[in-house]
Amino acid sequence: MDAPSDRIRLTIGDITGLAVDAIVNAANPSLLGGGGVDGAIHRAAGPELLAECRTLGGCETGQAKITRGYRLPARYVIHTVGPIWQGGHQGEPELLAACYRNSLQLAVAQGVRRIAFPAISCGVYGYPLPEAAHCAVQEIRHFLAGNAQIETVDLVCFNEETRQTYVQALADQ
Ligand code: ADP
Repeated sequence: MDAPSDRIRLTIGDITGLAVDAIVNAANPSLLGGGGVDGAIHRAAGPELLAECRTLGGCETGQAKITRGYRLPARYVIHTVGPIWQGGHQGEPELLAACYRNSLQLAVAQGVRRIAFPAISCGVYGYPLPEAAHCAVQEIRHFLAGNAQIETVDLVCFNEETRQTYVQALADQ
């Protein structure tokens, strides 16, 4: 088994194009679609994804639910609801960490080996990128240290600023 850091990769671009076992969606509590990465995933997966999401009864912040990937190259979509940034003292770090942890747990239960995450909460939910990247890297590393099944975790960077921030977060810890 590779060390946790050797299993984390930075991947530039659009998460919907990745042929991994599961991609993670930064969803909202309704699970009925939205903007940002959520909209992109629903567009690429097709209407069957929304139909399955309608059966799930929503999702609480910090929790995760899994569906099939339909027209995506990824077999599964793991929908997690990140916290809305409110200044950092409303439990945001714990909730964001829970998103990564619960998504990884669900992935393992479904036999996933390769998983990709967007920068959860870093779009319209307003989480500062450096803090979010630090939280993501810490939680993923901690999980991988105790789990041999997950082979690769792609941190998907939709732009160069995100990539630079993750490079820093990976170097810091
Ligand atoms: P949230 O509501 O959790 O903030 P957003 O979708 O608004 O979610 O943004 C989360 C992150 O996903 C942002 O960093 C945004 O740049 C990024 N993003 C948007 N579209 C895509 C995509 N197609 N692939 C990967 N990342 C994306």
